[in-house]
Amino acid sequence: MEEQSGKQIKIIISAAVAVLILVVTLFCTEKIQAEMQMQLSQNLEDVANQNAMALRNQVHSNEQLLKGLISEMQHSDEKVSTGILKYTNFVEAYGLKRMGYCMTDGMTVSTDGVVANLSFREFFRRGMNGQCTITGVLTDAMGDDHGRVTVMSMPVRNAAGDIEGVACLTYNSDKFNDSLQMESFEGKGYSFAINEAGEIMVAMGNDQLELSQNLFGDVLGRDQRNTEVIKQICDNLAQGESTQGTMYLKEEDYFFATPVTFMDGEITWYMFTVIPADFLNHRITAIQKNLLVMDFFVILSIMSGILLFVYTTKAQQRELIRLAYIDPVTGGANFARFCQVVDNMHDKRGYLVSADIQNFNSINIAAGREAGDRMLKDVWEILESSLREHEMAGRMREDHFALFLAEDSREALVERMEEISGKVHDRAVKMQVPGVYLRYGVCILEENEAVEDGYSRARSARNCVNEDHARHYMFYSEINQDEIRENQMMEEKFDQALEEQQFEVWYQPKYSVDGSQIVGSEALVRWRKSDGSMVSPGRFIPLFEKNGMIARLDEYMFRTVCRQQAEWLKAGYNVLPVSVNLSRASLYYSDIVERYECIIKECDLDTNYIQLEVTESALEGKADILGVLGKFRDMGVQILMDDFGTGYSSLATLNMRCFDTLKLDKSLIDHIGDESGETLLYHVVSMGQQLGLHITAEGVETMVQLKYLQKLNCDDIQGFLFARPMPSDEFESRMGSREA
Ligand code: C2E
Ligand code: MG
Ligand code: MG
Repeated sequence: MEEQSGKQIKIIISAAVAVLILVVTLFCTEKIQAEMQMQLSQNLEDVANQNAMALRNQVHSNEQLLKGLISEMQHSDEKVSTGILKYTNFVEAYGLKRMGYCMTDGMTVSTDGVVANLSFREFFRRGMNGQCTITGVLTDAMGDDHGRVTVMSMPVRNAAGDIEGVACLTYNSDKFNDSLQMESFEGKGYSFAINEAGEIMVAMGNDQLELSQNLFGDVLGRDQRNTEVIKQICDNLAQGESTQGTMYLKEEDYFFATPVTFMDGEITWYMFTVIPADFLNHRITAIQKNLLVMDFFVILSIMSGILLFVYTTKAQQRELIRLAYIDPVTGGANFARFCQVVDNMHDKRGYLVSADIQNFNSINIAAGREAGDRMLKDVWEILESSLREHEMAGRMREDHFALFLAEDSREALVERMEEISGKVHDRAVKMQVPGVYLRYGVCILEENEAVEDGYSRARSARNCVNEDHARHYMFYSEINQDEIRENQMMEEKFDQALEEQQFEVWYQPKYSVDGSQIVGSEALVRWRKSDGSMVSPGRFIPLFEKNGMIARLDEYMFRTVCRQQAEWLKAGYNVLPVSVNLSRASLYYSDIVERYECIIKECDLDTNYIQLEVTESALEGKADILGVLGKFRDMGVQILMDDFGTGYSSLATLNMRCFDTLKLDKSLIDHIGDESGETLLYHVVSMGQQLGLHITAEGVETMVQLKYLQKLNCDDIQGFLFARPMPSDEFESRMGSREA
């Protein structure tokens, strides 16, 4: 739902951005168009002014020429009518067609030798009226070419001031126009000048113009829309002001018209510069196109940006969810996800289960880490596939899994847990690792209890599962709460205790079977707490074996014993071998041999003085245990099989040939006195002897037991009968010196 509305918001924002961009573009186009229009007007005005100036200069120079010639002739004795004819060199220099002189009757002589009567010409009549003139385009009446000509004329006065003729310069109109031609607006623009009556006097670049002789009549005739503009032109022209606007000639045209005066203000023309509206529209359309293309790309890139952003945010979200909730090993839910799902369940009736894989380390060691990971995946698959509706599973860490199972009764739950454990066991067997099964701790989630808290209760219950294989589960309600609290405290205090050397090594001597001499001893740990109280290993060893802390304690004991032996040797005591206990968990560490060897070397101790006690159960499920023990033996460290006769002891183990000594457990010794017990003991001892094993009897408390063991030819006796475990200083006093 939230996601849906988020999507809608994003779409609305994207659309709004696109519309905004288009609006901005349209606004910009308008602005640009207006700006261009203004620039065009400005250009039109500039070009018109330049043209006007060019026209003025051209006319002015010719006017000066004509004036100069007239005055020169007036001051000579020669008649102007004949005098002018000798200035043929000016004709060429000024690009004229001819120079001429009209006499009062209109008879005209010219520099090219032609004589004609021009009395019909307007410029003649005006000249005779004392007016200067520049004509529009005329058809040449002199000569035979009937070309297009433009004439500049001026009256010529005699000394008395009377007009005695009209001097004139005749231009070839085309040449005159060409001399004024100015390139403007990429050749699209053109200019022309009209007189006050609207007659076209000169035209520049007027190929397209095709106007007849009078602009006003012509323009009006072409389009009615020109009426207004013509009126305005006439008004402004009369005022001598410039005009700009739109005319409709062939098409829509923009123009700028500016007045030009010559001949001392006698003549005023209006200089037009015209540009077809298309010229501007073309440019604007091109810019519009570019803007639209730019818009397209801007919108495209913004959209792509948004898409990319959405995609990467989604990808990041997915990655975050993966990191937060997905277990990297199993690919399934992790503990955080488990808690989240269970916390959010409406109906939390069911059991919270903490499960771990018993002997998981043996898989890692026997088949490698990868196989261990594969096993975790397999377990996850088994758990996940066994889940029903409103149930959940997640991996906590290492081989610990959390389950929420919605069973109605304990019986059904137990049955289900056993079934799951069976599947895990089968899977492990396929990997050729026996003895693997799941252990469970179970509790019922209290009302308003956080899942984490419930889980830690379930875990405490799991830690109380006995290792006797009788039952693989424990309900929290079954366990002793004081014990749990105490266990927790011991776990917490372990590091500090190691650091502060609260763990002491006590020695229990081993005697020769006749009791005459000490032949060695066993190192046994004691925890002397900071308050002085002593804790026996039976209280904390099983706990530390479960949580893996034992490996550090074993190493600590081993190091302390090695150092002590080295010291006693140095001090000259009669040092005998000391056996140190090694837990199964210690053997899981693949570098144990190297580490212990290092300690022995550090102390510069002969390996005869140190022995290791390993229980038979340590061999369970650990394929290379024999290899590890073999390495110790190669170093010269003897291996003692501890507690033989407890649990699942098997005579077959004796044949494994990785032990030097067999330590008979107290439970076997305790049976001395009853027949079947004695028979069993007899067979065990004789088999051990046959295999060449050294036999030590442990837990010997009575003379009866001693006597029987003597009869069986046991080698050593360890028991309260001779000595209890004692602190090192007491043991030291019993040792005696080497010489003794
Ligand atoms: P264990 O290795 O079998 O050690 C022999 C245990 O039997 C010792 O108990 C010893 O005090 C007890 N014992 C010896 N003779 C007699 C007797 O005649 N009568 C009776 N009732 N008991 C006798 P302790 O010291 O309480 O140790 C218990 C167990 O704790 C040990 O059994 C061993 O498995 C473990 N343990 C002790 N120290 C260490 C250690 O440093 N590392 C490891 N991994 N385990 C240790
Ligand atoms: Mg022992
Ligand atoms: Mg023992």
